Amino acid sequence: MDALTSTLFCTVAQLNTDIVYLKGLGPERAKLIKAELGYQRVWSFFQHYPFRYIDRSQLTPIQDWVEGQLVQSQGKIKSVSEVGSGHKKRLEVLFGTPEAQAKLVWFKGVKWMKPKLLTGKEFVVFGKPAKYGSVMSMAHPEITAIEQFRQEYIPLEPVYSTTEGLAKKGLHSKGLQKIIAQNLRDYLHLFPEVLPDEIRQQYKLPGIAWTMEKIHLPQDLKEAKHAQRRLKFEELFFLQLFLIFKKVLQLHRNQGRVFESVGEHFNTFYKNHLPFDLTGAQKRVLREIRANTHSGKQMNRLVQGDVGSGKTIVSLLAMLLAIDNGCQVCMMAPTEILAQQHYKGIAALLKDMPLEVALLTGSVKGAARRAILEGCENGSIHILIGTHALIEDHVKFQQLGMAVIDEQHRFGVAQRAKLWAKSNPPPHVLVMTATPIPRTLAMTLYSDLEISVIDELPPGRKPIQTMHKRDSARNWVFAFMEQQIAEGRQVYVVYPLIEESAKMDYKDLMDGYESISRRFQKPKYQVSVVHGQMKPEDKEYEMQRFKKGQTQILVATTVIEVGVDVPNATVMVIESAERFGLAQLHQLRGRVGRGGNQSFCVLMSGNKLSADARKRLSTMVETQDGFKIAEVDMELRGIGELMGTRQSGDSDLKLAHLVEDQKMLAVAREEATKIIEDDPALNKPTHQTLKNELARRYADKMVWSKIS
Ligand code: ADP
Ligand code: MG
Repeated sequence: MDALTSTLFCTVAQLNTDIVYLKGLGPERAKLIKAELGYQRVWSFFQHYPFRYIDRSQLTPIQDWVEGQLVQSQGKIKSVSEVGSGHKKRLEVLFGTPEAQAKLVWFKGVKWMKPKLLTGKEFVVFGKPAKYGSVMSMAHPEITAIEQFRQEYIPLEPVYSTTEGLAKKGLHSKGLQKIIAQNLRDYLHLFPEVLPDEIRQQYKLPGIAWTMEKIHLPQDLKEAKHAQRRLKFEELFFLQLFLIFKKVLQLHRNQGRVFESVGEHFNTFYKNHLPFDLTGAQKRVLREIRANTHSGKQMNRLVQGDVGSGKTIVSLLAMLLAIDNGCQVCMMAPTEILAQQHYKGIAALLKDMPLEVALLTGSVKGAARRAILEGCENGSIHILIGTHALIEDHVKFQQLGMAVIDEQHRFGVAQRAKLWAKSNPPPHVLVMTATPIPRTLAMTLYSDLEISVIDELPPGRKPIQTMHKRDSARNWVFAFMEQQIAEGRQVYVVYPLIEESAKMDYKDLMDGYESISRRFQKPKYQVSVVHGQMKPEDKEYEMQRFKKGQTQILVATTVIEVGVDVPNATVMVIESAERFGLAQLHQLRGRVGRGGNQSFCVLMSGNKLSADARKRLSTMVETQDGFKIAEVDMELRGIGELMGTRQSGDSDLKLAHLVEDQKMLAVAREEATKIIEDDPALNKPTHQTLKNELARRYADKMVWSKIS
């Protein structure tokens, strides 16, 4: 949990004192803390920050209690009685003042509590009241004798995370709080200030001694927040300093192929075969790729662009650039359908050019497969498109100069390394994703990639009208589909498919397919169905029929989630939309609105919706902006889930939150950038503290011997 801080030493010797020497702790409990929380030294122990605070400054008269709201009240015990018998025995205490009284109840620990609750004695209780009939009652309140309450009084009680094992030994939140309160002041003057003064002044961040005191022992919430703000900034600042520092090193290390010039293929295609003008954003990203591949450093670039922003053509032009410089290229897609679609699309665009394009997926077998592998190895294939099959070891290239990875933001470092190994120097890598996230956040989460953004849609796109309909409105939806089909358009109907409920989901899909087929009967209407249990060639056949306009309705599972491009389709009906995540809904909706006609997205749901589901659907109805949608998604799901394992990667954040504290993240990055720009290796004497702190925080994530 805290391997880093436990193995590393602070520059101030006294702060490295073993926690066993903390007053009031004792050897047994110290050992337990080391085992359960991983803190060895007082200094890391004091970095066990509270995760919230409870206001203990108010005493509420009992007559003002409100059911369900935490209160703290003073009063006397009027009577104590045991009620019931056996294991149903409970302790009931009448507690109050001359003005009002309430009932306190214990169902557990009756024997242990009873002797402490002396009639006539004054106590302070803390808990959540409930009302039974006309009587206010509080179960298992926290109860403290008035003398003790006065003695230990803290206006704002910090709440610490703890473990069951620790709690058993008295180190529940309150126990930890007591140990910290007893010891902290002995060490406050020792904490080193690691943030530069100018930055602290500019952003009005308090000094470290004040901060450490107030994070644990604040007088009020304002002080606690002020201390939190400084610590959050510190975490984000050092995270950014680390990422930028590391990136500077990396850039110097990874040599890449130099694409000297833009050549014939690129120019011919651009002049003669490009079916439209590029958007400004597409051109800008191409320039970024051009500069990157010209620089002598290997490119590892993430192109973020909303669905439909035109990433494919950008990657194709980048590939032509590589081919012009004597290289082969490959393009990897997450699904077979997408790989096929890219293959067909690209082969069609390049049909008048002397370039060999091949498709390699799991279902290409036998002689055809051998021919492709050979063509790659001898260099006769220029562009290889495929699924994960591409990165298998037996796929060899004569000269792989660029790899494009489509719609795979989770494509990890390990997989990229496999690609790198296919060529020396390693190929340039272009990752394309339609899950846009704010820039600074992207730079933090994908710190090993450069970021390009296509933030402009091709011209003439009409916003997609999105509606949320209950299942009861199905007849209306069918009529709507019919009307669109009458205008010559096509319709997608998508069903969720989740592994855990796959059987039921297939049944839903097939039921839906049947009812649509009944409603839209042959020969006037043709309905296709595509799902994961079909043979690849059958899927492909149905997809092609839809693409060619031979069928009007495509009923499918989420296989069409990414990439499928049928400009004539204008209606996307999503069944059980409440079961889809926001990113998926956005992707699905992106399948329509690709041609010149007004498009529609109909989100179907049941009547009962969770709060989250309602928020997802209303967000979809309100906006089409991928960045906004991603932000709501992050709020709802938490960033960890959204990003897979990446979150745990570089960020050891205790207080700061990458999404909630995004503004601060951006500021921290700016400040860190300035420092590294001024002094890339942090060699200036004034930066010594920063460098030490960086080494301390990120010791295990960097090969420090290579840095001088
Ligand atoms: P995505 O970024 O979602 O992968 P695509 O690359 O599939 O998007 O492009 C979506 C559609 O927009 C395609 O039909 C493509 O041909 C078209 N397109 C791309 N760029 C432009 C442009 N500059 N002008 C007009 N249409 C474009
Ligand atoms: Mg795409």
